[in-house]
Amino acid sequence: MRTSRAALVLAFVGLAACGGGTSTPPATANAPAPQIPLAQLPQVDPAKILDHIKALSADSMEGRAPGTAGEEKTVAYVEAQFKQLGLQPGNPDGTYVQKVPLVGISGAQAKPLTFAKGTRTLQLAWKNEVVAWSKHVAPEAAIAGSDVLFAGYGVEAPEYGWNDFKDTDVKGKTIVVLVNDPQVPDPANPSALDPKLFNGKAMTYYGRWTYKFEEGARKGAAAVLIVHETGPAGYGFNVVQGNLNEKFDLVAPDKNMSKSSIEGWITLDAAKKLFALGGQDFDALKKQALSRDFKPVPLGLTASMAIKNTLRTIDSRNIVAKLEGSDPALKDEYVVYSAHWDHLGVGDPVNGDKIYNGALDNASGVATVLEIARALKQVQPQAKRSFLFLMVTAEEKGLLGSEYYSLNPLYPLAKTAADINVDVINPWGRTKDISVVGLGASELDDYLRTAAQEQGRTLTPDPEPEKGFYYRSDHFNFAKQGVPALDPDAGVTFTDKPADWIKAKKTEWEEKDYHGPSDQVKPDWDLAGAVDDAQLFIAVGYRVAIAAELPKWSAGNEFKAKRDAMLSK
Ligand SMILES: [Zn+2]
Repeated sequence: MRTSRAALVLAFVGLAACGGGTSTPPATANAPAPQIPLAQLPQVDPAKILDHIKALSADSMEGRAPGTAGEEKTVAYVEAQFKQLGLQPGNPDGTYVQKVPLVGISGAQAKPLTFAKGTRTLQLAWKNEVVAWSKHVAPEAAIAGSDVLFAGYGVEAPEYGWNDFKDTDVKGKTIVVLVNDPQVPDPANPSALDPKLFNGKAMTYYGRWTYKFEEGARKGAAAVLIVHETGPAGYGFNVVQGNLNEKFDLVAPDKNMSKSSIEGWITLDAAKKLFALGGQDFDALKKQALSRDFKPVPLGLTASMAIKNTLRTIDSRNIVAKLEGSDPALKDEYVVYSAHWDHLGVGDPVNGDKIYNGALDNASGVATVLEIARALKQVQPQAKRSFLFLMVTAEEKGLLGSEYYSLNPLYPLAKTAADINVDVINPWGRTKDISVVGLGASELDDYLRTAAQEQGRTLTPDPEPEKGFYYRSDHFNFAKQGVPALDPDAGVTFTDKPADWIKAKKTEWEEKDYHGPSDQVKPDWDLAGAVDDAQLFIAVGYRVAIAAELPKWSAGNEFKAKRDAMLSK
């Protein structure tokens, strides 16, 4: 589980406390009827989940950091469990692993970011005004005398008829872009955002900073600089400064040379100074960027900067097993369950403890997927489609194991029906609901709603869709490539625990245990709610695996076009 996501848990506390509404969007068409009632599906044993969590979060696992002895032990444990469950190797090469080559890049400023207009220059202060890096797997990356353009939100979104670039060639240039997706006011109500564009207040992928760098690279920009603004970003510049720590990435065959030489953020104040040097007003150009007619504005400046990289490579692994379907035609299609096995390893001691055990994050998800596999092995009649149980690496380093899988899938993505991701289970007992980040994105939510109703439970939407949590967990790498993906979280309304107690537990998790050495198995855990959730995931996966059709994205979803294209081939 990544930092940004933990805030969601606390947000839920507030929602529950104020009795917040749990409005449910209307179900899309094609909601399936249950073939086997949920109650008749095999039952998960909470004791077995707890045993796996204890084993995976033991001190001997050394916090499960990729590339360490902890990885060796984790892979050995999960592989042994897969074999014991009678699952086949998930890799067609006959093994239970997929190798994931990673690179760690520590960047430093070699030459400061300097803008020039004639003889006038503006130099930005490293870390305080600019945070930049290079993903090039090379000792140095630089821009020199690169023309600077303001490219609005840096978005090309065909489904909204929006293209900030128009026919401007930005190859070799430095583009300055705004964070979030275009914040276009609703013509009928200017105090709100237009619901027809970029999903209104909710953030689409076009708003995520990672998208800005990807789109800039696709357009051939030499550098992409995002203007940081706390509100639209969803976090302060201090969070951006965390990017100066060692960054990890996949090693693409081109050594990431197709990415822009320099990616980075500048502060709002720095942007205003920069625009002023170019004789432009930042606020005025920002306003212009809210129009479909916007086209990039040259600032009449050049930018220069150099970054020095220190590199190290790490060979890590995804761990994967397969349960083959019964139908000769449909068994080539897969329902994927994913959970990241990695955690933070050994680090700075807190109260004398330096092992970051990661019991909830995410030994608990791996444990749950193992027990889901046990149940799906037992269910009769056997599912028609196959299941893949995928324990991914390097989530904590930026969703890298799942990204690697999505770019190098072991089975075609066009034949991958869905991904159901489990990242941190609920250890505090039963809930009346289950939370879904990105609720309404695909028909998977309809499957989940139907199953939840059989348990007398409801779905709760993400209370902060503007923060883009959907794009911050492993399932997203499947979504990004077009595969419908489900990201369920703990419910918010507990049935048999006092609200004060729950609130104290969540606060303890958020402020003390999350990403700390004290994320360990606790004596007061009650996995009954986590088991309820696991039964839902079993029902959803099984029903998808026997359905006549593959689940679909909802109309207007930003990943639908990619899915439609791959399925029409
Ligand atoms: Zn985490």
